[in-house]
Parts: sequence; C-alpha cells; structure tokens
Amino acid sequence: MRHRIAVIGGGPAGLTFARVLHRHDHPVTVLERDLAPDARPPGGTLDLHEKLGQLALGKAGLLAEFQALSRPEGQAMRILDTDGTVLRDWQPRPDDRANPEIDRGQLRDLLLGPLDVRWGRGVTEVVPGTRDGVLVHFADGRQETFDLVIGADGAWSRVRPAVSSATPHYTGVTLVETSLDDVDTRHPDLARLIGDGSVAVYGVNRALVAQRNSGGHVKVYAQFRAPLDWHTNLDRHMGLSRRAGLDLADAEAVRSSLPALFDGWADPVLDLLRHGTAFVHRPLYVLPVSHTWAHVPGVTLLGDAAHLMPPLGVGANLAMLEGAELAESVAAAPGPGDLDEAVRAFEEQMWARAGRWAKITAAGLERLVSPDPAEALALFDEVQPS
Ligand SMILES: Cc1cc2nc3c(=O)[nH]c(=O)nc-3n(C[C@H](O)[C@H](O)[C@H](O)COP(=O)(O)OP(=O)(O)OC[C@H]3O[C@@H](n4cnc5c(N)ncnc54)[C@H](O)[C@@H]3O)c2cc1C
Repeated sequence: MRHRIAVIGGGPAGLTFARVLHRHDHPVTVLERDLAPDARPPGGTLDLHEKLGQLALGKAGLLAEFQALSRPEGQAMRILDTDGTVLRDWQPRPDDRANPEIDRGQLRDLLLGPLDVRWGRGVTEVVPGTRDGVLVHFADGRQETFDLVIGADGAWSRVRPAVSSATPHYTGVTLVETSLDDVDTRHPDLARLIGDGSVAVYGVNRALVAQRNSGGHVKVYAQFRAPLDWHTNLDRHMGLSRRAGLDLADAEAVRSSLPALFDGWADPVLDLLRHGTAFVHRPLYVLPVSHTWAHVPGVTLLGDAAHLMPPLGVGANLAMLEGAELAESVAAAPGPGDLDEAVRAFEEQMWARAGRWAKITAAGLERLVSPDPAEALALFDEVQPS
C-alpha cells in the first residue's frame, strides 16, 4: 500500500528524507516555499560528521559523491588571541574524513538529484484529523490532503503548531554575517590568516569566526551578547558613546560600526569585517532544550522545526540523519497502523538524541561567547585535543 506522504521544506532534513524514500521507490511530495533552488543565497559551509550527516548520505546512496565534493582540509582550525597571537593551529591528518566541509549549495544539489520538488508552495497551516487525512493549506489559497505530513520547514515552522505550542526564544547572542569573495586574490593576507579551514578569535562576550567555503569564498560571523534591539541604540545597549541607532539595511553603516564592538582587537582580525560585502543580521533563537510533544497521528517534525539549537555544527547533521531514519522506517511500514507506529518510534529516538545535543550546544554557546574567553579555548581543547 502506498501512503500519501508530503514533506514541507526542502532544506537538509526534508531533502534527505525525500531522497532516501525515493531510493526505496516510495513516492513523496516535497513542498518548498522558495521559488527555485537558487532563489536566495544558500548560506555557509557545513561540516558533515561521520556518525551523523555522512551516515545519512550513506543511507541515500550518496556518500561517494559527497566524498568527491567535500573538503577534508576545511576541518583545519586556528584560534587567535584578540591581539592576533596564534593560540592553536590544528590541522587534520591527510586521511582524516571525520568532519569534511561542503558548501550548502553543493549539498542541496547533491540531495536534489532526481527529486521532483514543488517550488513556490509556501505552507500556512496543517490540520490533522480531517475525514480525508491531514489537510495542508498553502499561501496561494490551495489545499491538499495527505496520510502523513512531515514538517521540515525550519526554525519558524508553520507545521509545528499542529503538534506543539513551543516557539523559539532568543539566546542573548546575535551573529552578524558577512562574506569575502576571491579571498586568495583580493585579500591574500586574510587568506593566510584563515588558512584552509576556519579561524576564530574569542574576547569578552564577543567572538569573530571566519570560515572558508569553496572557490575562495569566506563567511565571517561577528558574534556578541546583546539585547535583541541592540542596533536601535548603540550608546545605551552596547556602550558605544555618541553612537545612536544603526540601520541594519545600510551595509556601509554596519561595516563602519561593527569594528567598534571589537574595540582593541588586532587590525588584521578586524579587516575580516572591514572588507565584508553584504551584512546579514542573525539573532540566535532556540527551542526549549528537550522539546517533545504528545504524538499526533499523521504529523511529525524533523530538524530545526523539531529542535532548533545554537549553530555549533550539528543542526544540519541531525536534520539529515533524522530525515534518513524516518524515511527508512516509513518505507518499511506496510499498512496505516504500521506507519503511525513507525513515526511514534522515530519520534522517541529523535527526542532522545536531539535532547542530548541541545544540552551540549546550549552549554557550548555559553562558553564560546562568554565573559571569560579562556572558556572558549578550554572547550576547543576538550573537543579537539591535539
Ligand atoms: C550561521 C549558521 C551556521 C551553521 N553551521 C552549521 C554547521 O556547520 N553544521 C551543522 O550541522 N549545522 C549548522 N547550522 C545549523 C543548520 O543550518 C540547521 O540546523 C539546518 O539547516 C536545519 O535544516 P532543516 O532542513 O531542518 O531546516 P532549514 O535548513 O531551515 O530548511 C527549511 C526549509 O523549509 C523551507 N520552508 C520554511 N517555511 C516553509 C513553509 N511555510 N512552507 C514551505 N517551505 C518552507 C525553507 O525555505 C527551507 O528550504 C548552522 C546554522 C547557522 C545559522
């Protein structure tokens, strides 16, 4: 028997789910709000862990292709003091494949492969328990019913309210993301500073991280503890005297103001911000640690929709493994009762694993953007002993 299955969202969770189900010859409808795969910039590089994201790609039959595309050298990590002194310079062994990096756009295209995604299908609401199944409402007024609806629609999920009243809350840490292009040609000094992978600098309640993507592209993340409305009054909220509000849409204004938040840091480090192109404001939100819900037949969640956590290198990994595991369970479920049992069992497994990681990443964020920068270094030494 073929169940009518829809996955809402074509991010790492939704596409991995669909790709594994497709591998098992099970039809699946992928509904994505974006109008096309390249409708917006895909975001920075992702490191896929051997026992999480890579395991999921194995279940999708895509591990060899991933290995051909990914950058094991991107695992390199350098840590600097705010005066530019190198504190750690960790290089992977040539055969180290534990956490290779891949551009998000490359990963998306790899997962998309033969999938038939319905682009431009923003979901507004999901209503379980109707006579014909789970009713999905779309922004364009259309509606459709399915036997199982998977909410893989990220942090601000429109599917989540069908199972849970939880909403994301602000962590107290904000990122401002910027980019450098053609870094090896245009900014060779910064290219040397960053190396093959990432460079991180930790100060008091502040951090600057730069990560190399493929093709000489670099993403830079300025991170700081601040109230959500920090930009409305830099004098009052950030202690920058004689500075009023900052228009986040004005790239020139952001470029000239941001370095003041890192007062006294070495010039080569601040150049990472001074040469940035567009600036994106990303206050970090999370769902409650150990977010669960009373099982609702016909609807479940995956990835950030289920367990949004600080971006410490596991969110996409968990999202992909969950997608792959749920797809395998669904493909193995012959009848409607089996399908619901498969989803229930999957949820228990997801909650247990995601709950562990939510605690780890919440504690990690406290230490990485902390009043005591030595905490960040200590965390690095625990995770990456040399
Ligand atoms: C700066 C930063 C760096 C990160 N680095 C890493 C890292 O190195 N490693 C890692 O594992 N994780 C990382 N993460 C976390 C990772 O990005 C997320 O955990 C991951 O993208 C979650 O995947 P997802 O598929 O659940 O959700 P998303 O990636 O958010 O995808 C959701 C999809 O649903 C679509 N959608 C949304 N609403 C609707 C709707 N109403 N209807 C239809 N479609 C909809 C969206 O357009 C999107 O395509 C990072 C996050 C940030 C912010």
